[in-house]
Amino acid sequence: MTQGKLIVITGPSGVGKGTLVKELLNLHPELNLSVSATTRSPRPGEVHGVHYYFLSPAEFETMIASNSFLEWAQYTGNYYGTPRAQVETQLQEGQSIIFEIELLGARQVKSNFPDTLGIFILPPTFAELERRLQGRGNDSPTAIQQRLERAQQELQAADEFDYQIVNDDFKQALKLLEKAIFS
Ligand code: 5GP
Repeated sequence: MTQGKLIVITGPSGVGKGTLVKELLNLHPELNLSVSATTRSPRPGEVHGVHYYFLSPAEFETMIASNSFLEWAQYTGNYYGTPRAQVETQLQEGQSIIFEIELLGARQVKSNFPDTLGIFILPPTFAELERRLQGRGNDSPTAIQQRLERAQQELQAADEFDYQIVNDDFKQALKLLEKAIFS
Protein backbone atom coordinates (compact mmCIF):
# COMPACT_ATOMS: atom_id res chain seq x y z
CA MET A 1 0.00 0.00 0.00
CA THR A 2 1.35 3.43 -0.86
CA GLN A 3 1.70 5.88 1.97
CA GLY A 4 -0.65 8.86 1.65
CA LYS A 5 0.56 12.36 2.38
CA LEU A 6 -0.92 14.64 5.00
CA ILE A 7 -0.95 18.24 3.83
CA VAL A 8 -1.93 21.14 6.05
CA ILE A 9 -2.77 24.41 4.35
CA THR A 10 -3.09 27.30 6.76
CA GLY A 11 -2.96 31.08 6.79
CA PRO A 12 -5.26 33.92 7.84
CA SER A 13 -8.93 34.10 6.97
CA GLY A 14 -9.48 35.92 3.68
CA VAL A 15 -6.10 34.97 2.23
CA GLY A 16 -7.76 32.77 -0.38
CA LYS A 17 -6.77 29.33 0.90
CA GLY A 18 -10.27 27.94 0.29
CA THR A 19 -10.24 29.01 -3.37
CA LEU A 20 -6.72 27.65 -3.85
CA VAL A 21 -7.67 24.32 -2.28
CA LYS A 22 -10.84 24.08 -4.38
CA GLU A 23 -8.84 24.50 -7.59
CA LEU A 24 -6.14 22.12 -6.35
CA LEU A 25 -8.78 19.43 -5.79
CA ASN A 26 -10.26 20.01 -9.25
CA LEU A 27 -6.82 19.51 -10.79
CA HIS A 28 -5.84 16.57 -8.57
CA PRO A 29 -8.88 14.43 -7.75
CA GLU A 30 -6.61 11.90 -6.01
CA LEU A 31 -6.31 14.37 -3.12
CA ASN A 32 -9.02 14.21 -0.45
CA LEU A 33 -10.26 17.19 1.51
CA SER A 34 -10.91 16.65 5.20
CA VAL A 35 -14.41 18.03 5.89
CA SER A 36 -14.36 19.97 9.16
CA ALA A 37 -17.00 20.49 11.79
CA THR A 38 -17.96 23.96 13.00
CA THR A 39 -20.45 25.71 15.24
CA ARG A 40 -20.64 28.79 13.01
CA SER A 41 -23.81 29.27 10.97
CA PRO A 42 -23.80 28.14 7.34
CA ARG A 43 -23.23 30.87 4.75
CA PRO A 44 -25.53 30.97 1.73
CA GLY A 45 -24.75 27.98 -0.49
CA GLU A 46 -22.87 26.01 2.16
CA VAL A 47 -24.06 22.42 2.47
CA HIS A 48 -23.88 20.24 5.61
CA GLY A 49 -21.43 17.38 5.03
CA VAL A 50 -19.86 19.05 1.98
CA HIS A 51 -18.43 22.37 3.15
CA TYR A 52 -18.66 21.64 6.88
CA TYR A 53 -20.56 19.55 9.36
CA PHE A 54 -22.60 22.27 11.05
CA LEU A 55 -23.00 21.34 14.71
CA SER A 56 -24.49 22.98 17.80
CA PRO A 57 -22.02 23.92 20.56
CA ALA A 58 -23.41 21.04 22.67
CA GLU A 59 -22.86 18.54 19.85
CA PHE A 60 -19.34 19.84 19.30
CA GLU A 61 -18.52 19.64 23.01
CA THR A 62 -19.80 16.05 23.16
CA MET A 63 -17.41 15.19 20.35
CA ILE A 64 -14.53 16.91 22.19
CA ALA A 65 -15.35 14.90 25.32
CA SER A 66 -15.33 11.61 23.40
CA ASN A 67 -11.98 12.45 21.77
CA SER A 68 -13.62 12.42 18.35
CA PHE A 69 -11.50 15.27 16.95
CA LEU A 70 -8.02 14.93 15.53
CA GLU A 71 -7.62 18.63 16.32
CA TRP A 72 -9.96 21.43 17.25
CA ALA A 73 -9.71 25.12 18.10
CA GLN A 74 -11.82 28.11 18.99
CA TYR A 75 -11.78 30.78 16.35
CA THR A 76 -13.56 34.15 16.65
CA GLY A 77 -16.26 32.78 18.94
CA ASN A 78 -16.89 29.41 17.31
CA TYR A 79 -15.47 25.92 17.46
CA TYR A 80 -13.78 24.36 14.42
CA GLY A 81 -12.40 20.83 14.31
CA THR A 82 -11.36 17.86 12.21
CA PRO A 83 -13.44 14.73 12.90
CA ARG A 84 -11.02 11.88 13.52
CA ALA A 85 -12.91 8.92 11.99
CA GLN A 86 -12.82 9.86 8.31
CA VAL A 87 -9.17 10.86 8.41
CA GLU A 88 -8.16 7.59 10.06
CA THR A 89 -10.01 5.56 7.43
CA GLN A 90 -8.40 7.52 4.60
CA LEU A 91 -4.98 7.15 6.20
CA GLN A 92 -5.43 3.38 6.49
CA GLU A 93 -6.32 3.32 2.79
CA GLY A 94 -3.08 5.17 1.99
CA GLN A 95 -4.90 8.22 0.66
CA SER A 96 -3.52 11.76 0.70
CA ILE A 97 -5.49 14.24 2.77
CA ILE A 98 -5.64 18.03 2.67
CA PHE A 99 -6.52 19.99 5.82
CA GLU A 100 -7.53 23.60 5.27
CA ILE A 101 -7.49 24.89 8.84
CA GLU A 102 -6.38 27.74 11.07
CA LEU A 103 -3.04 28.00 12.86
CA LEU A 104 -3.76 26.30 16.21
CA GLY A 105 -5.25 23.26 14.50
CA ALA A 106 -2.41 23.17 11.96
CA ARG A 107 0.08 22.98 14.82
CA GLN A 108 -1.85 20.11 16.41
CA VAL A 109 -1.88 18.11 13.16
CA LYS A 110 1.86 18.71 12.74
CA SER A 111 2.61 17.58 16.27
CA ASN A 112 0.41 14.45 15.95
CA PHE A 113 1.83 13.57 12.53
CA PRO A 114 5.36 14.96 12.24
CA ASP A 115 5.62 13.99 8.55
CA THR A 116 2.80 16.38 7.68
CA LEU A 117 3.65 18.85 4.94
CA GLY A 118 2.83 22.32 6.23
CA ILE A 119 2.03 25.18 3.85
CA PHE A 120 1.30 28.73 4.98
CA ILE A 121 -0.53 31.07 2.59
CA LEU A 122 0.28 34.76 2.99
CA PRO A 123 -1.45 37.85 1.59
CA PRO A 124 0.69 40.27 -0.44
CA THR A 125 0.04 42.95 2.23
CA PHE A 126 -2.10 43.29 5.34
CA ALA A 127 -4.12 46.03 3.64
CA GLU A 128 -4.95 43.61 0.82
CA LEU A 129 -6.10 40.98 3.35
CA GLU A 130 -8.41 43.56 4.89
CA ARG A 131 -9.74 44.49 1.45
CA ARG A 132 -10.43 40.84 0.59
CA LEU A 133 -12.21 40.13 3.88
CA GLN A 134 -14.40 43.18 3.44
CA GLY A 135 -15.00 42.44 -0.24
CA ARG A 136 -16.32 38.92 0.25
CA GLY A 137 -19.27 40.26 2.21
CA ASN A 138 -19.57 37.15 4.40
CA ASP A 139 -19.00 38.64 7.80
CA SER A 140 -20.21 41.49 10.00
CA PRO A 141 -17.81 44.41 10.66
CA THR A 142 -17.19 42.97 14.16
CA ALA A 143 -16.40 39.52 12.77
CA ILE A 144 -14.06 41.06 10.18
CA GLN A 145 -12.27 42.95 12.94
CA GLN A 146 -11.87 39.76 14.99
CA ARG A 147 -10.54 37.88 11.96
CA LEU A 148 -8.02 40.67 11.25
CA GLU A 149 -6.81 40.65 14.86
CA ARG A 150 -6.35 36.90 14.68
CA ALA A 151 -4.57 37.33 11.33
CA GLN A 152 -1.95 39.61 12.93
CA GLN A 153 -0.96 36.76 15.27
CA GLU A 154 -1.22 34.03 12.63
CA LEU A 155 1.06 35.83 10.17
CA GLN A 156 3.88 35.78 12.70
CA ALA A 157 3.85 31.97 12.62
CA ALA A 158 4.38 31.60 8.87
CA ASP A 159 7.98 30.42 9.35
CA GLU A 160 6.88 27.39 11.36
CA PHE A 161 5.72 25.78 8.12
CA ASP A 162 7.65 24.03 5.34
CA TYR A 163 6.50 26.42 2.61
CA GLN A 164 5.28 30.01 2.57
CA ILE A 165 3.29 30.99 -0.51
CA VAL A 166 2.15 34.55 -1.20
CA ASN A 167 -1.29 34.60 -2.80
CA ASP A 168 -0.91 37.70 -4.94
CA ASP A 169 -1.39 36.31 -8.43
CA PHE A 170 -3.79 33.34 -8.05
CA LYS A 171 -2.37 31.22 -10.90
CA GLN A 172 1.16 31.71 -9.68
CA ALA A 173 0.18 30.78 -6.11
CA LEU A 174 -1.59 27.66 -7.38
CA LYS A 175 1.54 26.61 -9.32
CA LEU A 176 3.68 27.06 -6.21
CA LEU A 177 1.19 25.05 -4.18
CA GLU A 178 1.31 22.19 -6.70
CA LYS A 179 5.11 22.34 -6.69
CA ALA A 180 5.24 22.19 -2.88
CA ILE A 181 2.97 19.14 -2.80
CA PHE A 182 4.22 17.15 -5.77
CA SER A 183 7.91 17.98 -6.11
P1 5GP B 1 -14.52 30.14 8.01
O1 5GP B 1 -15.47 30.54 9.09
O2 5GP B 1 -14.05 31.34 7.21
O3 5GP B 1 -15.04 29.02 7.14
O4 5GP B 1 -13.21 29.54 8.71
C1 5GP B 1 -12.52 30.27 9.68
C2 5GP B 1 -11.15 29.65 9.91
O5 5GP B 1 -11.28 28.34 10.47
C3 5GP B 1 -10.36 29.48 8.61
O6 5GP B 1 -9.03 29.93 8.84
C4 5GP B 1 -10.43 28.01 8.35
O7 5GP B 1 -9.29 27.53 7.64
C5 5GP B 1 -10.44 27.48 9.76
N1 5GP B 1 -10.92 26.10 9.86
C6 5GP B 1 -11.81 25.46 9.06
N2 5GP B 1 -11.97 24.19 9.45
C7 5GP B 1 -11.17 24.01 10.53
C8 5GP B 1 -10.87 22.88 11.36
O8 5GP B 1 -11.36 21.77 11.21
N3 5GP B 1 -9.98 23.08 12.36
C9 5GP B 1 -9.37 24.27 12.57
N4 5GP B 1 -8.50 24.34 13.57
N5 5GP B 1 -9.61 25.35 11.81
C10 5GP B 1 -10.51 25.22 10.79
